[in-house]
Amino acid sequence: LQWEGSGSSIHLTFDDGPHPEITPYVLGLLKHHQQKATFFLIGENAIKYPEVVSQILSDGHSIGNHTQHHLKYHKNPLKAYLKDIDLCDENIPQTSLFRPPYGRIGLKGIRALKNRRIIMWTLLSGDFDTNLNINKAMHHLKKIRSGDIIVFHDSEKALPQLKQILPDFLGYLKDKNVNSAAL
Ligand SMILES: [Zn+2]
Repeated sequence: LQWEGSGSSIHLTFDDGPHPEITPYVLGLLKHHQQKATFFLIGENAIKYPEVVSQILSDGHSIGNHTQHHLKYHKNPLKAYLKDIDLCDENIPQTSLFRPPYGRIGLKGIRALKNRRIIMWTLLSGDFDTNLNINKAMHHLKKIRSGDIIVFHDSEKALPQLKQILPDFLGYLKDKNVNSAAL
């Protein structure tokens, strides 16, 4: 860990929720460790679990748009892609934050979304990888620096890995006095 002094923070982010069990599991851990995060929501999940979305916000976290159907930028016409983002907007509370699925977006998309804050990441947890080497992943995560944006997933595919990484990582942040702020 290379740290640039007190008052600095990192940003934990969670993609692809809300999920009726996994998101509350994450919220519980965050509450226990007194950390704030940002949840990039898929609109079609938000429609199904509005109470989970409310819980995210009432716990003091922030939310962002992650499209309605988790669309791939390069597999869809720009018009359809933008429409999917607008549809997600209609299904989640107001936010200017946007993260493109798979972290992939082109220049035309960036220009069309100039009124939004497009949030990528600087550090991948690898939690989506079902063959993840947990020790290696933890080693990688411990290289965090001030300002880093770390991506996790509150999804079923990521859960087995998430359970092995996130509690330890939150403990590590506490040990090092590192604060995570919502975006
Ligand atoms: Zn995603």
